[in-house]
Amino acid sequence: MKNIKTGRKKISKVNKKRSGIYIHIPFCRKKCFYCDFYSEEISSKNNLSEYTDKVVYQLGKRWNELNSAEIISIYIGGGSPSLLGIKNVKKITQFFKEKGIVFKDIEFTMEVNPQDVAGEILEALKSEGINRLSIGIQAFDEKTLFEMGRMSQTLDIEKALSLIKEYFTNFSIDIIYGIGKERDLEKELCSIFSMAIPLHVSAYAYSPPERVSAPEQLVDEDAEFQQNRIRDFLVRKGFERYEVSNYSVKGKESVHNKIYWNYGSWLGIGAGAHSFSRNKREYSFYSDDLGDFMKDQGLSRYYPTVEEQVKEFLLMGLRLAKGISLHEFEDFFQKSFRCFFDIKSIETLVKERFCKMNEESLKCTDKGLDFLNYVLIKLFENMKEQSGC
Ligand code: SF4
Repeated sequence: MKNIKTGRKKISKVNKKRSGIYIHIPFCRKKCFYCDFYSEEISSKNNLSEYTDKVVYQLGKRWNELNSAEIISIYIGGGSPSLLGIKNVKKITQFFKEKGIVFKDIEFTMEVNPQDVAGEILEALKSEGINRLSIGIQAFDEKTLFEMGRMSQTLDIEKALSLIKEYFTNFSIDIIYGIGKERDLEKELCSIFSMAIPLHVSAYAYSPPERVSAPEQLVDEDAEFQQNRIRDFLVRKGFERYEVSNYSVKGKESVHNKIYWNYGSWLGIGAGAHSFSRNKREYSFYSDDLGDFMKDQGLSRYYPTVEEQVKEFLLMGLRLAKGISLHEFEDFFQKSFRCFFDIKSIETLVKERFCKMNEESLKCTDKGLDFLNYVLIKLFENMKEQSGC
């Protein structure tokens, strides 16, 4: 392995005064059994209009925290943002228009659930400037959908996809594997692709939720086999695995998620949302409490130690197939990678074919991406004291 160059160049544009915005809509029609995200079942008590007003208010209140950064992505996620209704979506887009954001120049994504999709809604979302949809499919198997407690059935997914492709070419689908018995993930993907072809696929491994107790029979022991089938299918379709769980056709990687993986800045607004300011090295969190958010309470801030920052930089960056840039690492921490890590331990990971390293970058191989936790444990075990640098 060659020495790591210490010159500072090629700093990623993603991290230079650029930022994303995340808006969390913490409402769902019904909680799915396996879900750990913060959301509340919608009821007559929940007022979506008042919640949206509060989101817009908080956006205005915290706008200065963006520090005049160029906005490159807006992402409305949840929960189920497709419950918002077009009137509320318009309140949010109006705010951004008044801030001078030109939607056609950025990635503007909204998550939708198949059962909420209708032609007039899609048309309105498109005319409001949303240019990318993320569709929570999760499974295309009736039995699994039922066992997961999903509201949608395969017929809803079919109808949704045939409508979506009329209005959007840029859409992503979410799939979960490692959940549901005797699934044929390749067959499920094949059926989905025969209806509409996405430009991006997120295929997440199921991990049992911590906040709720999910039925035990959900776990599929054969997750690794399923993951391989998904990857083989997508590669055959011309997709690239650009992150542990994410695949896209060339040029259609998620701008928004890349902000997270590149340790970039974003402003997160909504109950349960969090933010990161790269300049200030500051996290901020809204508590998972709708009541707090509606009362303008529950916002806390946290300043990670340098060790925590280094770990997070690697934890996120090594998820990407391109890995981390060593120049960017040095620029950010003002110390070389060698000050923190024993290069011998990395050489072992390279010999074992988990990682590749050169003067520019450290990255995982496909095997390393599959065993990322092992790679991180080995790296962090050998993290040095900072003294001597
Ligand atoms: S998986 Fe999606 S729809 Fe289901 S409870 Fe979680 S956020 Fe809501």
